[in-house]
This record gives sequence, structure tokens and C-alpha cells, in this order.
Amino acid sequence: MIHTVVEPATGQPMAEIERSSLSDVDEAVARAGRAQRDWCAAPPAERARVLLAIAAGVEAESETLARLEARNVGMPIGDARGAVAGVAATFRYYAAAPERLLGSTIPVAGGIDMTFHEPIGVVGLITPWNFPLSIASWKIAPALAGGNGVVLKPAELTPLTALELRRLCVAAGLPDGLFGVVVGSGSELGAHLVEHPSVGKIAFTGSTAVGREIGRRAADTIKRVTLELGGKSPSVIFDDADLEAAVDGLAGGVFGNAGQDCCARSRVFVQRPVLGEFLARLEVLTRGMRVGDPLDETTQMGPLISERHRRQVAGHVEGAPVAFRGDAPEGPGFWFPPTVLCPIDDAHPAAREEIFGPVVSVLVFDDEAEVIRRVNDSPYGLSGSIWTRDVGRALRLSRAIESGTLAVNSYTSVRINTPFGGFKQSGLGRELGPDAVQAYTELKNVFVATT
Ligand code: NAP
Ligand code: MG
Repeated sequence: MIHTVVEPATGQPMAEIERSSLSDVDEAVARAGRAQRDWCAAPPAERARVLLAIAAGVEAESETLARLEARNVGMPIGDARGAVAGVAATFRYYAAAPERLLGSTIPVAGGIDMTFHEPIGVVGLITPWNFPLSIASWKIAPALAGGNGVVLKPAELTPLTALELRRLCVAAGLPDGLFGVVVGSGSELGAHLVEHPSVGKIAFTGSTAVGREIGRRAADTIKRVTLELGGKSPSVIFDDADLEAAVDGLAGGVFGNAGQDCCARSRVFVQRPVLGEFLARLEVLTRGMRVGDPLDETTQMGPLISERHRRQVAGHVEGAPVAFRGDAPEGPGFWFPPTVLCPIDDAHPAAREEIFGPVVSVLVFDDEAEVIRRVNDSPYGLSGSIWTRDVGRALRLSRAIESGTLAVNSYTSVRINTPFGGFKQSGLGRELGPDAVQAYTELKNVFVATT
């Protein structure tokens, strides 16, 4: 069966590709399992060499990959170039892991005790459409470094760069079959991977609703799971903050990727004395956002991913108090203008639910204890920012906010060399950083009697 991939900026088809069947999934799992046996037996330096060659291959084709990602996601080309550079950096970072997968020796009576980080075997990877290649690489690179085979099911809206990456990996010397890609819907192919008896782990990024269902189904085979889920991340802006930086950063911090970012700071808490100045600055930023063709070098924000998603985002704004909004192109494509909601109280759905569009709710607060309580009154806990020049206060909030990834005086969320993931219903486990490979291994303990 043929699957048509649509370009969000035009609403027109951009590629037709073959859809995978359930037996293709079985075949991909079996091939990954066969290839994995040799891969995990290969010298660690050889696995490192292949991962470095993949990084070089991604860099050599970076412009092609960036343009494909920009068109398929609707992501501004500058952002897509950054994303592809991050993919190469991810493979390079985890290339160091095979030779450093150290175990312990533990003092025991009567012999020698040692631990090993053994590969899981075949890992199923299920990824969303918002940062397709980046999020896939955060899973593929550490999984391969840990000696596993992988089968990736990208979101059916955005499978194109994953297919290119697979081709590049084979060209770089990755054993054929070790990394498989299956194209199709989550409810069919994704669910099949989750239930597959030969898949030892599922690493999933997507919505909390689907993550919950995956956790439930994975329990049947006691599969390991890593879940990177939704968020409703706060930015807390105190009256002593560098207001210009706090506002200007929101161009990326909440409107980046048209708000289709699990770390989007979509709840902004502003301390009362600076609310007026904050809103005045945010209005200038919002009205000035350059929304348009993702391939135009000056574009800051592209379209939403689909017509269905555009309707969902619009539904969140309907009836909500719009303070001001920017422009978006008319005509074909799934456009939505950057939108600021204010005044809005904590109970309003726009202040509680993940909208996943360029929509920010501005809330006002008076003191520190109050804002901590209000920020934590959420089932989510993925990311967040704290803006203040008071270091003690920044550190108090950093400890008090129930969230996996915080930034002080910055909207940074993800770095390849630091851990990323959510508290509460934003996820389970961590990705990236120095320990990510361990999430793709089983800890084994061996005792050798010497007496
Ligand atoms: P989604 O609907 O949960 O889909 C994510 C992936 O899961 C897709 O590949 C999807 O396939 C697949 N899937 C759907 N139903 C499934 C099932 N029953 N079993 C197995 N797989 C299934 O999420 P999305 O709409 O693509 O992405 C938006 C969400 O992702 C947001 O909530 C966002 O916060 C979250 N996200 C989180 C992070 C993070 O790191 N925490 C990063 C990015 C995005 P198809 O779509 O192809 O059917
Ligand atoms: Mg979905």
C-alpha cells in the first residue's frame, strides 16, 4: 500500500512511499535480532568507528537532510540545520560509549564479583512528528552503542528523514538489518512492536495518552520502557529579571517549531510589578514574528503539522481571552498565528492542557511560595525556566519545581550531553547525557568462586 506524505506549508503531497505491513515489522525485528548477535560481539572500537562514520555521513548530507526535514515538518530551515547538526553530534557523542561501558568489581567473600552492561537485544523505537530526526537519533545512537539492534517506527506524518538516515547508516558500514524502519500508523505497527515477544524494550516519545497505553501493553511481556511524554512547562519571570532576554527568548521558547515542542514554555508566570512592561514587550515580539515559508532563510515560524492539528489548536483558543496575536499566511498550508492569552486563571484549560501550538498563557503572581505551588499544580513536569538575578532564589526554585529539566535565565531544554526527561506524567526514565546507554542495557552480576 502507498502512503502519501504531505508538506504542511502547502497542504500538497511531497512524497509517496511504501507502507509497511505487520509481517514487515516481524521481518524487521527478526533481521535486527540476527544482525545484533554479531554487532554486540564486535570489538567495542569497531562499533565506535561505525558510529563516527554515521556522524560523518550525516554531516556530508546535512543540507539535503535539513531541507527534507524542514519541508516535511514545516520547520524553519535554520532550525532544521541545527537539528541535523545535533543528530551528527549525538552519534559522535555515543561513539565514545562502547569503549567506556564499564562494569564494577564488588568485594565479596569467597571469590570475585563483577558486573556487565549487556545489550537488551532488539529495541523498538516509536517517535513523534515534531522533531523526527533529532528524537530518533537520541534513541538510535545510544541503543546501537549499547550493542542492540533497533526497529524504528517514525510518525506516519514524517517518515522521510528516518528512511534517509537508515540509508546513510548502511553506507557508513552499519550492518544491514541492524537498524530497521517501518512506515505506518501507531495503532497498528506501533502497537505490534509493543506487543512483539522478540522486542525487549520500547523507547517512546509522544503524547501522555499514547505513552500510558504503551506502558499498559508493555506490561504483558514485562518490556522495559522509556517514555518521553507531554508537558505544560512554565517560565517564571520575577520582577528583577532581565526582561528583554526573558521576552526575546520566547521567540524560540514558546513559538519555536510553532509551539510543537514538548518543552514549550506555554505557561508564563509574571510577577505583578513587571506585568505591564512584559506584555508590552511580548506584543512587539508576537506581532513581529516572521511566519511563513520554512525554506525562506528569514522565517522564524512555519505552519502546524496538519489540518487536523490546526483545528485542535484553534479549538483551544476559541472562547479564550486573546490579548494579541501575530500574523500568518492566508491560503493553503496549515497556518496559525502566534497567539497570547491573557488574563487567564490557573483553572482555564489553556493554562492546564498541552496545546502544542504557538499559544502562550500569561499568568500573574505575587510571591515565591505562591508561584511554586501554582507551577507544581500540574500532572506534567517536563521542563521550565526561572528568570531572576537573585541566585539564591533561582536555586530555591530549581529545587522546588517538580520538573526533569530546568533552565535559569535561559530557555534551553535539551543538550546531547545532559540528561533529559520528565517528572510525573511527563515521562519515565531519561534520555541523552552520559548515562543514556545504560537505559539500553541490562545489568548482569557474575560471581566467580576462587576457593
Ligand atoms: P502521539 O500521537 O503520541 O504519537 C507518537 C508516536 O506514537 C507516533 O509514531 C504514533 O504513530 C505512535 N502511536 C500512536 N498510537 C500508538 C499506539 N497505540 N501504540 C504504539 N504507538 C502509537 O504523539 P504526536 O502527536 O506524534 O506528538 C505530540 C506529542 O508528543 C505531544 O504530547 C508532545 O508533548 C510529545 N512529545 C514529547 C517529547 C518528550 O521528549 N517528552 C518530545 C516531543 C514530543 P502515528 O502518529 O504514526 O500513528
Ligand atoms: Mg498523534
